[in-house]
Amino acid sequence: MKRILVTGGAGFIGSHLCERLLNEGNDVISLDNYFTGSKTNIVHLMDHKYFEVIRHDVTMPFYLEVDEIYNLACPASPIHYQHNGIKTIKTSVMGAINALGLAKRIKAKILQASTSEVYGDPTIHPQTETYWGNVNPIGARACYDEGKRCAETLFMNYKDQNSVKIKIIRIFNTYGPRMHPNDGRVVSNFIVQALRNEDITIYGTGNQTRSFQYVDDLLEGMIRMMNTADNFTGPVNLGNPNEFTIKELALKVIKLTGSKSKIVYLPLPEDDPVQRQPDISLAKEKLNGWEPKIQLEEGLLKTIEYFKNILKL
Ligand code: NAD
Ligand code: UDP
Repeated sequence: MKRILVTGGAGFIGSHLCERLLNEGNDVISLDNYFTGSKTNIVHLMDHKYFEVIRHDVTMPFYLEVDEIYNLACPASPIHYQHNGIKTIKTSVMGAINALGLAKRIKAKILQASTSEVYGDPTIHPQTETYWGNVNPIGARACYDEGKRCAETLFMNYKDQNSVKIKIIRIFNTYGPRMHPNDGRVVSNFIVQALRNEDITIYGTGNQTRSFQYVDDLLEGMIRMMNTADNFTGPVNLGNPNEFTIKELALKVIKLTGSKSKIVYLPLPEDDPVQRQPDISLAKEKLNGWEPKIQLEEGLLKTIEYFKNILKL
């Protein structure tokens, strides 16, 4: 039985990861300060004999004995990470230092949940791991993008200087049940608006693109990545290469919910990337043929069902 720490374990992705790791027979610890996560996401796991919950902020050191660490603690939605940009940077950077320091001391393997945002507003398409990105270092998204970029640097330095066993994944837009209804990300916004028959808010023209990955596909890739040989560190892209415009997403959500909502167009937020699509060749090669299995309509239907239940609609 492995003992595994998940920082950000009460968040959207973290709670699914804890559940899956427990189901696979591991001893799992969730560490979270509940900034954007919630106990509700993990309450169904709390009776499990091998699940422990710690309320803690990753910007402060933490001491535990574990075999593996998944470092997910960080707000991920633009409205949340921009709420207190300095804190977001501290969470990414000091959180990485604290998690890496722990991994070094106890010789644990550690995986960083990095992001497609390290590519910024990309000038190459689709994005490969060798692309260095196009990030505005002083823009609205910089606290998140640069924090995550610095965390990647720290991971590489701890590997080179201290032989820490590291893994870096770059996650592209991921959605599914347990996203926060007010989290502001596009999939949850559109579904909640559609279910309430409220206006669907497209920012800009709606011609910008994203590639949406269902959470179960991400988990499979993440766990396969953790289990790769020590000499493979990544970074590796994990995302669904099927690319959609935001307008196409809005129309799909309206169709699948049977909503009466109308589309309204609002100003585009600063530095909003124009396009985003992962090149997943490296993931396929290194993660035993991993590729996303759940396509957009199927994943949206599961997510719509979840929101119908929590919104009692
Ligand atoms: P989320 O906001 O639901 O989860 C983040 C979790 O981290 C929350 O439970 C939050 O309370 C916790 N947290 C935040 N600051 C903390 C701190 N200082 N100390 C302890 N806990 C803290 O977001 P998510 O979508 O589940 O994202 C999880 C990770 O995956 C994040 O690191 C995010 O950057 C990364 N990621 C997510 C996506 C996506 O599309 N969902 C894309 C790229 C990267
Ligand atoms: N978006 C939108 N309406 C919303 C929320 C988001 O049109 O209500 C757009 C947003 O401007 C961006 C895309 O959807 O172009 C994805 O936004 P999200 O915040 O989900 O993720 P990110 O921009 O970090 O990829």
